[in-house]
Amino acid sequence: MSEALLTLHPYIKVALPVPMRTLFDYKVPKAIALRHELKPGMRVKVLFGKSSRLGVIVALSDTSDWDPEQVKPLTSLQDERPVITQELMALCEWAARYYHHPIGDVIFHALPVLLRKGENAEFRTENWWFTTPQGQQLPLEQLSRAPRQQDFLKAVQQHPHGLSQHAASVLDLAPAAGKTLEEKGLLRREPRSFNKGGEKHAHQTQVPPTLNPEQMHATEHLLDHRHEFNVALLDGVTGSGKTEVFLRVMARLIEEGKQVLVMVPEIGLTPQTLKRFEIRFNTDIVLMHSNMSDRERLDAWLLAASGHAKIIIGTRSAAFIPAPNLGMIVIDEEHDTSYKQHEGFRYHARDLAIKRAQALNIPVLLASATPSYESLTNGLQKRFAWLKLRQRAGNAHIPEMERVDLRGKTLVHGFSEQALANMTLCLERKEQVLIFLNRRGYAPTLMCHQCGWIAACDHCDVNLTVHKRANKLHCHHCDTQKALIHTCPECQSEELFTVGEGTEQIETQLSTLFKDVPILRIDRDSTQRKSAMAKLTQKIHEHDQAILIGTQMLAKGHHFPNVTLVIIMDADAGLFSSDFRGMERTAQLITQVAGRAGRAKKPGHVLLQTYHPDHAAIECLCNLGYEHFAIDGLAERKSLSLPPFYHQVIVRAESGNEHEAMQLLAAMRNDLEPLFSKDVYLVGPYAAIIVRKAGQHRALISIKSAHRVPLHQATQMMSDWLEQSTRQHRIRFAIDVDPLET
Ligand code: ADP
Ligand code: ZN
Ligand code: ZN
Repeated sequence: MSEALLTLHPYIKVALPVPMRTLFDYKVPKAIALRHELKPGMRVKVLFGKSSRLGVIVALSDTSDWDPEQVKPLTSLQDERPVITQELMALCEWAARYYHHPIGDVIFHALPVLLRKGENAEFRTENWWFTTPQGQQLPLEQLSRAPRQQDFLKAVQQHPHGLSQHAASVLDLAPAAGKTLEEKGLLRREPRSFNKGGEKHAHQTQVPPTLNPEQMHATEHLLDHRHEFNVALLDGVTGSGKTEVFLRVMARLIEEGKQVLVMVPEIGLTPQTLKRFEIRFNTDIVLMHSNMSDRERLDAWLLAASGHAKIIIGTRSAAFIPAPNLGMIVIDEEHDTSYKQHEGFRYHARDLAIKRAQALNIPVLLASATPSYESLTNGLQKRFAWLKLRQRAGNAHIPEMERVDLRGKTLVHGFSEQALANMTLCLERKEQVLIFLNRRGYAPTLMCHQCGWIAACDHCDVNLTVHKRANKLHCHHCDTQKALIHTCPECQSEELFTVGEGTEQIETQLSTLFKDVPILRIDRDSTQRKSAMAKLTQKIHEHDQAILIGTQMLAKGHHFPNVTLVIIMDADAGLFSSDFRGMERTAQLITQVAGRAGRAKKPGHVLLQTYHPDHAAIECLCNLGYEHFAIDGLAERKSLSLPPFYHQVIVRAESGNEHEAMQLLAAMRNDLEPLFSKDVYLVGPYAAIIVRKAGQHRALISIKSAHRVPLHQATQMMSDWLEQSTRQHRIRFAIDVDPLET
């Protein structure tokens, strides 16, 4: 590189994973500038204070706002090519502004963990075993006294194109035997770049079904608009063949050499989704979710970044995956709140994906049986194309929803007589029952019969949940665990009893009522281990007759063809929530769970146990369905000036001290409110619903406006104010743009 070019950008602006909302200037030493072409998106090592940190170059610059004497040189360059592409850098910068979050944290969030730690952005190499000419010809009997070597050589002889170390360990071949054979000159090893494509087996791809007219219409619309930015809301009842529609569109784009990103809410969904995609496409598919090891995630990231992977299936953080030929983003179950990150960098993967697609001029497809109120509004206002599927695909029918009035009834283990009778009949027909209870553990409360003592968390304002199987008391808010006790710590009485029931209790009790029926529980406790979910769903598919008990995990996207009865144990949960989104969530959950019934040829039936059978919401949902319910709900939101008609930002503060967070937010309001635009409305500060969590006292202030610009300005002022003020206090604050919880 010429001297002239060298002096062009003597400075770089670096993002560091620190909570400061700024970039840091460093000098480029000549020795580095001579040998490398620095670009935004490359990682560098720099000195920050006294410690060495990894950072990402955001910009090259001719000047620095700092005294040149004080600007330190960068220590070393980590990459030859950017790990954050230009496209993703722009997305990160947009997100940092929109969510008022420190840019360094955003950029580091966009990278896989190993790259954050400095790992090279290169495919790992793996050793492959090959026979030498002697090894290929050697008769195996000659090794009969060394059976391990014999097995090893035999396996490699059978793989003329080589056997990977990974395959050798799958085949249980002894590594020491391989080394001995190598020393004898019978085998040789060769490192090869890790690349899933090499191990792919050609398989029969499935013949897709003939689309029904609704599916056909949706598919044609999507195909017609597949080369430009647009958002389509594929709003189809559960089992209406939404997946089938986007598989068609994906197939076309993949034929055209494009990559498709499919976002799914939870890992629980991925085994089934992956299988379905694998059957359908003979192409490279990678998964990206939190249940993978850091190395596996980096491998998936590299396969996507190299353009090798044509289909990327991932959870929230996959919104940032690099894909040079990205042709479409699909967001399945778009209403799911797990797309929103609830701590740290509080972004919404759906909104981010839409922004990304807009910049790339590619389409976004949002699919759901219960679209979010935000997306429905966009559909109603014609910003999104609203594609409806109202028939179930094939011969399946929409299940019938029936309310079971619990008032004055005797319940057996929480079930009405009607529910138990229906369950018995269903099992006699060799079909499956799904029981929904959104409460894991054995019981939500442990109480003393003598003095009324209740087991509560020491760090949060909540009761501890009883987990009998694990013999523990567990706080579901801060994760504190204690041994289950049998004596009251207040009065030493041994008459402790549980109140209420969770999934674990229902499982235990039903196993005594239905002795020979397999009972499978699906909740966060039973699916903790890797692949546990895949094993459970496998079991469900193996049995004809079965009882499935689960929390909201069961409600999401699963396809259990033999489930014909769904029992919603407590339809009232969430009906009287203090959060204005409570009704939307309840309706989505009930509709999604109900949608698990009768997905194949057999008709489905849904029982909702309720103490409020005449409640307008429950009645509307059962008789008129989700869309009607949501449109009524939106009218109410509009009349109350609530989102999505008003935009909202919540500022959260927390402190170990009881009043500090509240006082700080009040002082902020006092200082800033006179400066805010008239279009901005403030509520609070007020205490969080659960004030104390993990020892922190939490307060919040809500700010809303019909217009983004004044809201954004006010938020910026609050952010600056808080950054100044919290330096002296031990208070943490967070800004939550478009919050989903209060
Ligand atoms: P959704 O994504 O809306 O829940 P799916 O696409 O999973 O629906 O379809 C539900 C079931 O119906 C699947 O087993 C699918 O293979 C089948 N299916 C989808 N479309 C058709 C069709 N046009 N004809 C017959 N079966 C279909
Ligand atoms: Zn007691
Ligand atoms: Zn706790």
